[in-house]
Amino acid sequence: MQLRRTKIVATLGPATSSPEALQQIIAAGTDVVRLNFSHGSAEDHKQRAQTVLKAAAAVGRHVAILADLQGPKVRVARFTQNKVQLKQGQKFLLDPSMDLEAGTEEAVGLDFPSLGNDLHKDDILLLDDGRIILKVDSVDQNKVYTSVEVGGPLSNNKGINLQGGGLSAPALTDKDRADLITAAEIGVDYIAISFVRNADDMHEARALLEQANSNASLIAKIERAEAIEPSILEGIIEASEGVMVARGDLAVEIGDALLVGVQKDIIKHTRRLNRVVITATQMMESMITSPMPTRAEVSDVANAVMDGTDAVMLSAETAVGDFPAQTVAAMARVCLGAEQHRKSHKSSHRVDIKVHSIDESVALSAMYAANHLDGVKAIICMTQTGKTPLLMSRIRSGIPIFAFTPQHAAQRRVCLYRGVITHPFDSEVLDNDKVNHIAVEELKGLGVVKDGDIVLITKGDYVKAHGGTNTLKVVRVGNYIQ
Ligand code: PGA
Ligand code: MN
Repeated sequence: MQLRRTKIVATLGPATSSPEALQQIIAAGTDVVRLNFSHGSAEDHKQRAQTVLKAAAAVGRHVAILADLQGPKVRVARFTQNKVQLKQGQKFLLDPSMDLEAGTEEAVGLDFPSLGNDLHKDDILLLDDGRIILKVDSVDQNKVYTSVEVGGPLSNNKGINLQGGGLSAPALTDKDRADLITAAEIGVDYIAISFVRNADDMHEARALLEQANSNASLIAKIERAEAIEPSILEGIIEASEGVMVARGDLAVEIGDALLVGVQKDIIKHTRRLNRVVITATQMMESMITSPMPTRAEVSDVANAVMDGTDAVMLSAETAVGDFPAQTVAAMARVCLGAEQHRKSHKSSHRVDIKVHSIDESVALSAMYAANHLDGVKAIICMTQTGKTPLLMSRIRSGIPIFAFTPQHAAQRRVCLYRGVITHPFDSEVLDNDKVNHIAVEELKGLGVVKDGDIVLITKGDYVKAHGGTNTLKVVRVGNYIQ
């Protein structure tokens, strides 16, 4: 049985609101759902989170919830008909004084009234990740008069970028602060911060999270030109539990041609610092309206897998697309294929550095044994927080890492870690000398291992202790295991 290692993040929206649609995308392989706080009310998100947990339970899978805060993204407001068609050559007005719900083919409102202050005649505005291009003709009292250079459909709340970057706006808006509290109340597992400029933005988010009494992990979205400068990037990664290569905005700011190399660098850098990384945006774009991905999309997903990403993300494909479950299934299939390549199994991660914690040395030893000892079929990692499986999963390997944990928070958190599968298990209630035997029997029951296979087990002396992993045991299935 080949288990998929790369995780799938699926953005929820109208196409995936019903319990049935949610069950379908979860059954098709969704590991993490993304609540996009750029759309919908706090009540919508609360409701959705409830439906997700029920759907996951109905399908018998663990799913983590990621709340993605809007950030200081400049967006058009909404259209009376939800969507308009812009034609090349026509005039189009961005008007902050207009009713936010009353957009038409001629003009639309803006929820960022000072946009005009940062603009000059002939500036190029890229809307909806660059699909629509507007050229600024003039700015008058914050009304931005433009001509459409590249037209097409434009729907509610689509983003606006200035070519070359440099729109001034603070990282966490008032709306983000309120949304962060909503996300904490919902009890989400991950919170993504948009348009992060530096480590301080993440420290600020962390302080808000602590005030809100939340244990959520923080993901920094890398989508500004200034954030990819290596020392700034390193600071951002260290201040976060993970990052997202937010290719939609990043490509607009730095130019699409540089993006592929930058993606590889960010993934490598993040994994080297023992953090998780999501690769996002336009991965299966054509599947919004087609049941089959293009060769280019297959190639893009496969390359992200070979780069070592923890997760690949779907946006409009699952939020508003015609084929949400088929898209998740296609992505899962492509990940499995790419994981068969030898590049996905070999690792030189941290072989030449010193580590400073016992649990990390045990995690690395386990992965060395997993990758080099013939016959190893699985790793059982007894964990309370998911920390040891995270450290293990920074090493490329073809061997599945089973996070055996009684903690619901850890069961969901590890859903984002590449190669880690959660298995609810409470070693506390078992006799100490039977724990290993029972754990291996459970894996056998799942059909993952059979007699004669080798299994690696890691745990601490005191199972409840966090970060207490200090033992690696190598056992053969079928023998009596103590
Ligand atoms: P967004 O973030 O979908 O919220 O814009 C992802 C990206 O920019 O790629
Ligand atoms: Mn973005």
